[in-house]
This record gives sequence, structure tokens and C-alpha cells, in this order.
Amino acid sequence: MPIRAYCTICSDFFDHSRDVAAIHCGHTFHYECLLQWFQTAPNKTCPQCRKQVSTRHIINKLFFDIGGEGEGSSADPECLQNELDRMKAVLSTKERDWRDRLKMLEGLKETVDRQKKDLDSVRKEIGEKEMLCSVLRKQMKYLENQQSETQAAKEEARRLRTKMKTYESLDVVLQGQRAEVESMISDMGVGQAAVEQLSIFCISLKK
Ligand SMILES: [Zn+2]
Ligand SMILES: [Zn+2]
Repeated sequence: MPIRAYCTICSDFFDHSRDVAAIHCGHTFHYECLLQWFQTAPNKTCPQCRKQVSTRHIINKLFFDIGGEGEGSSADPECLQNELDRMKAVLSTKERDWRDRLKMLEGLKETVDRQKKDLDSVRKEIGEKEMLCSVLRKQMKYLENQQSETQAAKEEARRLRTKMKTYESLDVVLQGQRAEVESMISDMGVGQAAVEQLSIFCISLKK
């Protein structure tokens, strides 16, 4: 049964990609893992058996004679298992990446949805304001019409009042005493208006 040795620091199986180191206690680790361990550990001991270690006694690189690189090694179940484990690790990393990206995408979608909603509400508000504006414009037009009608009515009232005054004066001329007529005519004063007024009286009396 072949040995499926692995590094107890990182739990990866040994392969050709990374150097394997050994301590004098006999335990083996990836060389990089061991260096990292010594950098972070308070004192230099074997990660597995806790024996004191001096860096001088580390064998930096072990050489394994693995039979038949070309023939049969690819069919070696150990080798295939290692490869499979490595692939599984790669796959799980990719899956994690994929999940992260999916989550990010969902976040972006949410943001877009929210902004769409905001835009819709702003559009709606604009529509309402425009409607209000047109209502106000209509009211304004109506009020303007009212105003011009009022103006016309006032004009008419003034005209009627003048006419009324003329009739009243005519009444004085027809029925009044001489003194009253005199005072009325002298109230008219002199000028074009007075002349017009007097001619109106004359024409009316003729009728
Ligand atoms: Zn390792
Ligand atoms: Zn040891």
C-alpha cells in the first residue's frame, strides 16, 4: 500500500509542486509551511511532536524516487487520488468565487431595482405636478375671463349711469323751475362737453 503523505500544517498532500522538508524528529512538512510556522510560533518546536528544533537540523528538501513517471504513474491510484483531491480543492475555490459573484450580482440587481422604483416615483410626481399646473392654468384663464366680463359690466354700468343722469337732467328741464334749470346749466360749465350736453337736451326736447 503506497504512503499518502501530507503536510500536517496545511493538510495538503505532498506533490512535486512544493518542496518537502524534514525535522530531525522525523516529521515532514512543506518547507514553506515550516518556515511560516517558525515565523509565527513563539518558540521553534516541531508542529507535530513539539520537540525543540534548531533550524540547522532541518533537511530543506527531500527527494522521493517515484517509479515510472511515464509508464503507469498516471494510472497510479495514489497519484490520481492526489490529483482528484487537488481538483476538488480548485473546484470548491471556484464555486466559492462563483457564489461571491452571484451575491454581488444580486446586490447590483437590488440597487438597480431600487433606483428604477425611485425613478418611477419621481416620474409620477412630475406627472402629478404637470396635472396640477394645467388645472391652475385653466383656473387662471377662467379668472381672466371673469375679470374681463367684470370690466365690461362696469363699463356698461358707467354708460347707464351717464344715460340716467341725462334723463334726470332732461326731467329737470321739462318739469323744473327756471332757477333749477339755470343752476343745472351753469353746473355744466363751458367747453365741448357742455355744448354736447346742451345739444342732447335740444334734440330730446324736439322729440
Ligand atoms: Zn504544508
Ligand atoms: Zn516531530
